[in-house]
Amino acid sequence: MSEDSVYQQLRANLAYLRLHAAAEVLPGELEHAAAHKLGHSAFLKRLLDAEVAATEVRRRESLERFARLPAPWRVEDFDFDAQPAIDKAMVHELATLRFLEDATNVLFIGPPGVGKTMLAVALGRASIEAGYRTYYTTAADLAARCHRAALEGRWATTMRFFAGPRLLIVDEVGYLPLAQEAAAALFQVISQRYLKGSVCLTTNLGVGSWGKIFNDDPTVAAAMLDRLLHRSVVFNINGESYRMRQHRARSERLRPRGRRHDEPEDTT
Ligand code: ADP
Ligand code: MG
Repeated sequence: MSEDSVYQQLRANLAYLRLHAAAEVLPGELEHAAAHKLGHSAFLKRLLDAEVAATEVRRRESLERFARLPAPWRVEDFDFDAQPAIDKAMVHELATLRFLEDATNVLFIGPPGVGKTMLAVALGRASIEAGYRTYYTTAADLAARCHRAALEGRWATTMRFFAGPRLLIVDEVGYLPLAQEAAAALFQVISQRYLKGSVCLTTNLGVGSWGKIFNDDPTVAAAMLDRLLHRSVVFNINGESYRMRQHRARSERLRPRGRRHDEPEDTT
């Protein structure tokens, strides 16, 4: 076989095996190997490195699409000084993702605007980047999806779907009370992931008020909390809303000579 037809055959084989990145860099790598007198292994390694890198990028993009994170937030973007109630070291520990290994849950509890979604999404981003299947949903979306699934006879499939990701983020639990069916769906999702896969959950309700989410059914609330909290890291964030804080700081800058509202009134 002539060298030319070996080359053509090689390209055809790479295409057949769908090693498109390797096929693309092949001419350049052959030249590089000749110019640098590379051995067979070194050449082959470089060729396959290109394919592995391309596969990695595709995999990351697919995880990214699947996860449906609502924003590109990262842990580095979080202003910890603004929220001293949050244990920064603990957040950084979570960002190493060791918590996924023993299916530890993470709960962010606090009023609106304190960064609960931001931190949950930042953990989600870290998890995607580490190559873990990650999925973001709000409690309301989860409920709506399960409702549709029940109507269409796909309940079991949907439950398997929510069992699948290595990290499941359930945002905004407690903003709206859940109808009985929705509460049952959330309960089943949490139960089937118990000790198997981490849940990162955000809520505006302290755990003592969780009965309210479940139509004042304290038994479901207690059973769910039992599973969630058994192995968990809980952040109680009771600081001020970040946007309110920024808004206040801005208006105070705009009123340099004005009296700040937290200063005592001058009564003289
Ligand atoms: P929550 O989910 O607690 O209601 P969010 O995470 O949605 O709050 O935060 C509200 C907005 O404020 C977002 O735009 C978020 O990026 C920003 N934000 C909140 N806390 C911080 C923080 N500590 N550092 C930087 N941005 C923050
Ligand atoms: Mg939120």
